[in-house]
Amino acid sequence: MSSNFEFIDIKRIEPETKSIKVRKIEFGEIYQTQNLESVKEQSSRCLDCGNPYCEWKCPLHNYIPDWLKLAQIGSIHEAADLCHETNSFPEICGRICPQEKLCEGACTLNTGYEAVTIGQIEKYITDKALSEGWKPKKLVESSSKKTVSIIGAGPAGLACAENLIRRGVKCIVYDRYSQIGGLLTYGIPEFKLEKNIVIKRREILEELGVEFVLNFEVDEKRMNEIEKNSDAIFLGLGTYESIKGNINGLSKDGVVEALPYLIKNTEYLMSEEDAENIDFRDKKVVVLGGGDTAMDCVRTAIRQQAKSVYCVYRRDKENMPGSVKEIKHAMEEGVEFLFNSQPLEIIGNGTVRQLKIGKTKLGKADGSGRRKPVLIKNSEKILDVDKLVIAFGYEADPQSFIAENNIKVSDRGLISLDNKNYKYQTSNPKFFAGGDMIIGSSLAVHAIAHGRDAAKEIIKFLET
Ligand SMILES: Cc1cc2nc3c(=O)[nH]c(=O)nc-3n(C[C@H](O)[C@H](O)[C@H](O)COP(=O)(O)OP(=O)(O)OC[C@H]3O[C@@H](n4cnc5c(N)ncnc54)[C@H](O)[C@@H]3O)c2cc1C
Ligand code: SF4
Repeated sequence: MSSNFEFIDIKRIEPETKSIKVRKIEFGEIYQTQNLESVKEQSSRCLDCGNPYCEWKCPLHNYIPDWLKLAQIGSIHEAADLCHETNSFPEICGRICPQEKLCEGACTLNTGYEAVTIGQIEKYITDKALSEGWKPKKLVESSSKKTVSIIGAGPAGLACAENLIRRGVKCIVYDRYSQIGGLLTYGIPEFKLEKNIVIKRREILEELGVEFVLNFEVDEKRMNEIEKNSDAIFLGLGTYESIKGNINGLSKDGVVEALPYLIKNTEYLMSEEDAENIDFRDKKVVVLGGGDTAMDCVRTAIRQQAKSVYCVYRRDKENMPGSVKEIKHAMEEGVEFLFNSQPLEIIGNGTVRQLKIGKTKLGKADGSGRRKPVLIKNSEKILDVDKLVIAFGYEADPQSFIAENNIKVSDRGLISLDNKNYKYQTSNPKFFAGGDMIIGSSLAVHAIAHGRDAAKEIIKFLET
């Protein structure tokens, strides 16, 4: 019988992780599978607050206390149904959301008792339900005669497709890659999200009726054809222009950009035809940056058996943009962090040999509200480097068919959503957009929220 005071006796316990020895050599997910008893127990810690802050802080506004209650009594299929009312891919969010900054960060139990393990329970519910043959239900059985084309099979495009098809709207998803998922497949490594999770989603979406056209680069000509044959189009193209930073020597051999490094490693592990690897075995690796991409690079280099792996970041640990749990995992796996350190010069005759760095202290906040790192005079230090990875993040790179279709973009190259008729509609009424390409490099959960909400707006648009 629930007393609502379980949190006093039952401590927050996350699933165990594999041993560090195993984590350092294999690419699989690091958490062990939970059992139902521990899920029930951890769910029972929820206070069922009258005003659930976790729900507000979750970008999808998931019905968290309600599905925790169902998990507590072991009604996993009902919990999965409820999860899917707001989230197309709960098992993915459960794995990769930075919960400490979102739902769990807002949990009332943080006042001294530690948050409910919301992400891990969300993951368990859908994993378990899917393994028992549960499937997301169609919300309407009839099909409309309208067709929506979706360009980009990342989380934004896939969430849009899932929400359209379950409401009976035909949709075709185009992507340049041979697999769906966008950065879920080609950016985020397997130790955070195993590829079979996304492959399972493809099966489910295809069974619901989504059509995928893969290995298909959309250009102006193809866009014209697609436009003629569609009643509405959703763009979820992501942001892929890497931010270079202002350091001398970026063109030297041995300097690698983060995303090509991660993509090549993923393609190699997925044994895609002709896949070549960028292998850091026995190399002295330095990664520049402090976000999720940087964490994925350092942890990939560890698994490739690099000789040493350093992460150089200009602010302190508290101000790192990456997920706290991933920074912790990187530290556990042997990555050495040089905080308050700014890269100054890449040294080497044609090939990188060393990196000059200087110490920083945090100054006044800049326009973004974050304290600006200020270089401390005469604090230079030299690091030996064989491979230097640039992981400063990504910005928008509007493709030519955007302007060709009179879709307005902002100064930062992001799609402007200034059409007041429907949310997520662009300046060309037939085109809607969501994900990183409207807000800049962000999180999968935001892309899923945009795709979901855009689908509902597209349906209203098609009905007029
Ligand atoms: C290394 C890395 C790690 C990350 N880790 C996390 C994390 O731990 N947690 C988290 O929440 N978020 C993480 N993110 C961010 C998250 O992956 C993105 O915010 C999210 O994937 C954005 O979704 P999207 O659908 O907007 O774009 P994307 O995922 O980028 O998908 C865009 C799709 O559009 C396709 N496309 C683009 N142009 C064309 C064209 N012309 N023709 C055909 N197809 C095209 C691309 O091939 C791609 O498949 C990470 C990002 C990176 C790079
Ligand atoms: S989607 Fe992300 S933020 Fe929302 S409940 Fe799940 S883990 Fe938390």
